[in-house]
Amino acid sequence: MDIISEGHFSVKSVSRVSSSHINTQVSSTVAWKKLWNLKAPETIKMVLWRLGVNALPTRVNLLKRVDIHDPTCLLCQGCIESPCHLFLRCLIAKALWFSACWGFRAKDVRADSPEDIVNLVIKPPDALCRVADQWKVSLVMALTLEEIWMMRNTELHLKSKVDLRASTQLIQRRFRDSMTALAVVATDRGGFICNVWAKVSPLRSLLQAKTEALLWVVQIAKQERWNQVAFEGDSQVCFNSLSNSAATPDWSIQTTISNIRSLAEVIHHSSFVWIKRSCNATAHEVARLALNSRFSFVFNKGNLPPALAAVCKEDYLRYSSLV
Ligand SMILES: [Zn+2]
Repeated sequence: MDIISEGHFSVKSVSRVSSSHINTQVSSTVAWKKLWNLKAPETIKMVLWRLGVNALPTRVNLLKRVDIHDPTCLLCQGCIESPCHLFLRCLIAKALWFSACWGFRAKDVRADSPEDIVNLVIKPPDALCRVADQWKVSLVMALTLEEIWMMRNTELHLKSKVDLRASTQLIQRRFRDSMTALAVVATDRGGFICNVWAKVSPLRSLLQAKTEALLWVVQIAKQERWNQVAFEGDSQVCFNSLSNSAATPDWSIQTTISNIRSLAEVIHHSSFVWIKRSCNATAHEVARLALNSRFSFVFNKGNLPPALAAVCKEDYLRYSSLV
């Protein structure tokens, strides 16, 4: 495959081209497809792939090819720098795992090869997460592995001291920046809040996020067996796509729009109504709360947090003045 003449470049392409030389994937235990599907930046997947095929230039790997005088770990200076030591057994790595990854104890993990480390990221220990949140744990683990590699390279090239606090904060910031929140607010005919739902999901474009949120509310409506629903939202592009079946939606939301249309057909009376962002304050506040807490939640009118209750009241008063 000539990736240059075809004008395409992707991580998968690199994998195919490189693996033909390295030839390590034939008997690999790594679920490579799951690696490429991880909800993580492509650059991090490349680091994981290089780790999985044992192509990272750790000192043990260098020792096999060139005559280096000192194979000891650059971070702790105490052991031979093998991939398993550097990423899991090293004192510095263990401290970073513990502080950045929900108290994860790397020393308790059984990992005898670089492939085992990559598999750990692809399928994190069950105790760390619910299945629905597995992508978040995988993402933090991938960020942590990349940060360990960066710390090691900084030590090698710049001789600067390891700063665990800064590295932990960097992982947390990158994790936060990789998420978006979807929110759904259900009101009755009078505009009173009945329920609010929120969930965090991987970062995508604003249009995709708003369309996903609309799909989610239609799914909820179907599940709750609501038969008369007005779906409201503030994405004009999304609602225009739904109201004009002859138009082709933006490529990034085509599948989601199609799913929304199909699902909405089973609801007796449904309509899609675009509203101004200023009329959608409760949904934005719910999403903000989910993003700050990094957790999904459901509240009903009896247990709304005070901040949300206040915004709901303002929205209700605004709604009442319009009716
Ligand atoms: Zn070490």
